[in-house]
Amino acid sequence: MTIASADLRERLTAVCASPYLLLCSDYDGTLAPIAASPDAALLGADSATLLTALAHSPNVRVAIISGRPLHDLQRHSRLEPPVLLVGSHGAESSRHAAAALTDTQASDLTRLREHVAAMCAGVTGSWVEHKPLGVAIHVRQADPRAADALLSALQHGPAMWPGVYATPGKAVMDLSISARNKGHAIEQLRSEWGTEPTVLYLGDDVTDEAAFRVLGPTDVGVKVGTGASCASHRVTSEADVPALLAFVHACRVAGSVESRR
Ligand SMILES: [Mg+2]
Repeated sequence: MTIASADLRERLTAVCASPYLLLCSDYDGTLAPIAASPDAALLGADSATLLTALAHSPNVRVAIISGRPLHDLQRHSRLEPPVLLVGSHGAESSRHAAAALTDTQASDLTRLREHVAAMCAGVTGSWVEHKPLGVAIHVRQADPRAADALLSALQHGPAMWPGVYATPGKAVMDLSISARNKGHAIEQLRSEWGTEPTVLYLGDDVTDEAAFRVLGPTDVGVKVGTGASCASHRVTSEADVPALLAFVHACRVAGSVESRR
C-alpha cells in the first residue's frame, strides 16, 4: 500500500529531511482500529515494528499520546522504551508520573465519579471507565438516542462544573480534573528535547484537534478518517497509517545514509 496524496508524500519527505523529528500519534482509531470494546483495540505488528524502528533512529523521538490511562495504553500497545507513552490526554507519561492530587481535586474526583455512575446507571450499554484523573463515559454500545441524551446531560451537567474539563470524543465523553490536553503534551515533548524538532502528528478524533492546533508551519498534521479538522493533511482511515509510517521510516533511513556519505 502507498500514500495516495502526492502533496502528503512531498510534505512527509520535507519533514523527514529536518534534523530532528518528533513523531507523535494518537492510539485508538489511528494506530489501532476502533473496536466495540477498548480491550479489543490492538496495535498491528507492522505499526509496532515501524514505530520501534523509528524510535531507535538517530534524532527521532516517537510518542503515543492517548486519552487512555497510561497503564492501559502500555498493556494494549505493548510498546516499550524508547517509544514514549503519554496517557490521560497528556496528564501522565512513561517518563513522568501524574502529579499527586490536591485535597480539592481528590474530593472533586470522588464527587464526579459518584454523579456520573448514577447518571449512567439507567442507560443500558453505557459504561464508565475510571482513570487516574477522571472518568470516560462510553456509549458505543448503547441505543443511539439514549446515548445522545446521556452525552447531552453530561455536557450540560458535570462537564460545566468548576474544575472539571470535558473532552468529547467518538461515542465517548472524557471528564477530567486535569486541564491537560494533547497540545500541551506536544509542547512539553518539544521543550524537553531541547532542540527544535519538526513535529509529525497523526490523530483521528476531536481530542486530537488540540494537538493539530499547536503545530507550526513546518510541522505536519495528518487527520485520519472523516470529520472536520484543522490538520494540514488527511488519510482515509487507520488502514493507511502503516504505509505512512513505512514511508517516514524509509525517508529517515535514506537521509541518514546520505548524511554519512
Ligand atoms: Mg483516537
